[in-house]
Amino acid sequence: MTALGARLGRLLRRPRARALPVASVQVELTNHCNYACRLCPQSRRGRDNAPLAPYDRPRGFMEPGLFREVVAQAARCANEINLSFFGEQTLHPRFEEYMRVLAGRPASLRVVLNTNLSRLTRHTFALFREMRLDDLRLSIDAATSRTYDLVRPGAQVLDLDGAPATGDRFRAIRAKAEYWFALPGHTPTRHVFPVSSANRHEMRDFADFWLPRLGPGDLILFKNVLTYGGKVDDPMIQDAPCNAWDQDMLTVAWDGRVTPCNLDTNLDLAIGSVLERPLEELFRGPERAAARARARDRDAPPCSTCRDSNNWSRNIALRQGDAWREEIALVFRDPRCGGPARPGEAPCPG
Ligand code: SF4
Repeated sequence: MTALGARLGRLLRRPRARALPVASVQVELTNHCNYACRLCPQSRRGRDNAPLAPYDRPRGFMEPGLFREVVAQAARCANEINLSFFGEQTLHPRFEEYMRVLAGRPASLRVVLNTNLSRLTRHTFALFREMRLDDLRLSIDAATSRTYDLVRPGAQVLDLDGAPATGDRFRAIRAKAEYWFALPGHTPTRHVFPVSSANRHEMRDFADFWLPRLGPGDLILFKNVLTYGGKVDDPMIQDAPCNAWDQDMLTVAWDGRVTPCNLDTNLDLAIGSVLERPLEELFRGPERAAARARARDRDAPPCSTCRDSNNWSRNIALRQGDAWREEIALVFRDPRCGGPARPGEAPCPG
């Protein structure tokens, strides 16, 4: 047998991954948040946001029956559940109960969680390992207390033991992330740093602090800040074509409504409810095709104000063993400034 034949034989003997139509189902346990981040639509809630798109959707928590139904449906048609979309998911009063439901999922269904770390404790970190979380995504977005309070203003946070942290929020959050990264065998973790005009000067300090702490499955991800479907703005936003339809994603909001775009935080493109029709039917149905046509015509929010979509063209990942490179700072330019941001530099004047 030739080498090529042997390789082909091995490939054919491998169990095939199930061909599931939906790549990822974003599940929003809640759109409540204890922060009002500068570049998040939560900070524009209830304001006249013109000429940008509004964010005025009611707040709530996903009911247990609906959560179980979404998990059961996702297990049939999707590769992944991503607990995110909007709000801080760990604020749900039944968060622990829901994590235990996910512990019983089929092995084919990955689970991802995004968090601001504010409510995480030693107990929650143990829970993540117990329920076999596949991917944890953290947002700290700063290397100093000053910039943290500027880009992520909000409530006081809990310490590792669950008591209100005294003093500096940033230091309390950073201590928890350090604890997590030092745990042997922790869940692979994506340390996300959305770069904006307010924090780009701290990219290098962030990388230098966290790179030595990464485990083999972890990464730091620098990515350009987004408008969330034209609801916030920043001088560093870059135009990019709509790519929501390439992701094969669905998002289920806390009340069961489903949208095909992961940036549709106000649910203006909703195509139905999982309380009325199964997720797979909504994914394949005419309503999704109609929403796609509306996105193409860009005649109503959020598409009429969305100019960057999921612009991931500047994404740069650093892994264990990598070092900071000066060209990373060159990628994330603020058009109002002459060159790359330097550590300790103030944001460019507007
Ligand atoms: S144009 Fe519309 S569908 Fe496309 S990413 Fe923006 S908000 Fe989503």
